[in-house]
Amino acid sequence: MENIDSSAEHAAVLRTEAEKRSKATNAWIDRFEPDELTPMAVRQAFNELHVHQIELEMQNEELRRAQLELDMARARYFDLYDLAPVGYCTLNEQGLIMEANLTAATLLGVIRGVLAGQPISRFILKEDQDGYCQQRKQLFATGETQSLELRMVKKEGAVFWVQLQIAAAKDEGGAPVCRITLSDVTARKMLESELVIMAHVDTLTRTLNRPAFLEKASREIARARRTGMQCAVMFVDLDHFKSVNDTLGHSVGDELLKDTALGLAACIRETDMMARVGGDEFLILLNDLESGQGAQYIAERIREKFNAPRLIAGNDLFITASIGIAVYPHDGDSLEDLLKNADTAMYAAKESGRNMFRFFDLEMNKNAVTKMQVERDLRGALDKKEFVLFYQPVVNVADGRVRGFEALLRWFRTGGGLVFPDEFIPVAEETGLIVPIGAWVLDEACRFGKQLVDRGFIDLVISVNISVVQLRRKNLVDIIKSALDQNGLRPELLEIEVTESLCIESFDAAVEILKAISALGVLVSLDDFGTGYSSLVHLQKLPIKNLKIDRLFINEIAKESDENAMIPAIIDLTHKLKLGVVAEGVETGIQLEKLAANRCDYYQGYLFSKPLPADEVIPFMEAHNGKQG
Ligand code: C2E
Ligand code: MG
Ligand code: MG
Repeated sequence: MENIDSSAEHAAVLRTEAEKRSKATNAWIDRFEPDELTPMAVRQAFNELHVHQIELEMQNEELRRAQLELDMARARYFDLYDLAPVGYCTLNEQGLIMEANLTAATLLGVIRGVLAGQPISRFILKEDQDGYCQQRKQLFATGETQSLELRMVKKEGAVFWVQLQIAAAKDEGGAPVCRITLSDVTARKMLESELVIMAHVDTLTRTLNRPAFLEKASREIARARRTGMQCAVMFVDLDHFKSVNDTLGHSVGDELLKDTALGLAACIRETDMMARVGGDEFLILLNDLESGQGAQYIAERIREKFNAPRLIAGNDLFITASIGIAVYPHDGDSLEDLLKNADTAMYAAKESGRNMFRFFDLEMNKNAVTKMQVERDLRGALDKKEFVLFYQPVVNVADGRVRGFEALLRWFRTGGGLVFPDEFIPVAEETGLIVPIGAWVLDEACRFGKQLVDRGFIDLVISVNISVVQLRRKNLVDIIKSALDQNGLRPELLEIEVTESLCIESFDAAVEILKAISALGVLVSLDDFGTGYSSLVHLQKLPIKNLKIDRLFINEIAKESDENAMIPAIIDLTHKLKLGVVAEGVETGIQLEKLAANRCDYYQGYLFSKPLPADEVIPFMEAHNGKQG
């Protein structure tokens, strides 16, 4: 630039000098009156003119040379401008590109010609446009050159990082413009982020490393303190990992760790965090929990996930995990305490036989452990023939005759005595064990029903409770059909009881299955009415025969309360829908009287009989028939 400027200046000086001289010559001639122009004077004048002419030509030559130098310098300048490793462009006050060098065009992935008139912001990634606008404002406010790093987008869509400098300037006409330089810093940015990742991530599993986990986890705990939510620290340690390393080699061990990290990630939410903090040790932080129950749910998922063989580098490996859990704020107020307590709980899990989880808190532990033990024992219970059915009579309110029996499941657990359904049905449902158990119940109930028929009780209906989990399986209809066929029981002597919870999820699918069941001739009734969510709209769609009012309502019937008024209303409505009403849990004569007064059809409860073991049913019926006369 300097070169060009000085050449241009020089040429300008020469030009004015030449003009000055030409004017001087003319002035010199003009000096003379015509009579003064003697031959002598003319010759002298001519000589002087000649000298001037020579001088002028010399000056012209110099001017030409200066012009040439100027042109060359200008060409050199444009070469340098275009080939500079940084992109340059000039923007007008509206931010539109006025001109740009070749590098800028190449960076933006366009030919230079199309740039003029385009807003530069068109090439800036949307998320980074605010930053750019702020810097531009700042530039106009202070006049100081601004510098920032942002992401731009090439015409074909590729994103790249640039360092952008904006300086204020004036164009030839004095109007304010911006001069922008763009340097591609993508490579440096990538390196920087790679370094950040390396500093925070465990390179084998790509999970967080210990320092990064500690830093983030402390922040989460501080947040929980502010929001009043709970969070949990989970210590996960693989069982017998060392033996994999020792027998199959480190590369298989590494693959197992990678698989474990993936498995754990699949069990937690995206907002939770996980780190590998030692050979086979992982830490998990579960945030935004309502209670420790949430942690138990995740721990169950993890245990289930690793409680199956995994194919690792061609080996079928069965490697379970032991898990320790500490919940904030219950088990510690600081991350340090929570880590220590989760660690203690993890060792307790190892000591109790591995492949389980433990809460640091003993009370929470008791629930979790009980549940795990129930699950473990439940798995063997069918094979060990530990289930039996009890039968509770369902009685006609009007004449006291027994309509049939409800089959109620009991579990004679080895070493644990008699277990009632409320203690194990939820676990059986959660684990899916209810499906084989439920199939056994159906078969056993049909067998017993046929036995009653064979003993002369030809019209007693046997009711069997069906879980929603069973209803979700398409083969329930086949299972029922085969139980009837195998045992030779007439379908109208079997009734299935479904609860209102089927109305919550996939109601339409459940309706289809229930229709198929009732098409077999089997009766369907709705159990525990009043405790769920069913509306009359739902009821009308269901192919049901009877409605069983939950015993919570029956409890109220003899009291002077508002709920009192509900029973007559329910019975009335049910009758209008042409359904029978069964009252559950009738314990007193007063309750029965009120039910009778409200034309309830059937009842069931301790008042008439508790659920009976199978071998007491026939003697009970014989005695009862005797009483009925
Ligand atoms: P549910 O179907 O409503 O059965 C009635 C429950 O009330 C039975 O409890 C019965 O023993 C109890 N009960 C009957 N009369 C009275 C009474 O007068 N007072 C009181 N306080 N209770 C009475 P159980 O046998 O413990 O069964 C509880 C629940 O377990 C059943 O409620 C049913 O939902 C479920 N269940 C039972 N057996 C099975 C089964 O084989 N499969 C499935 N999926 N669930 C079952
Ligand atoms: Mg029932
Ligand atoms: Mg019930």
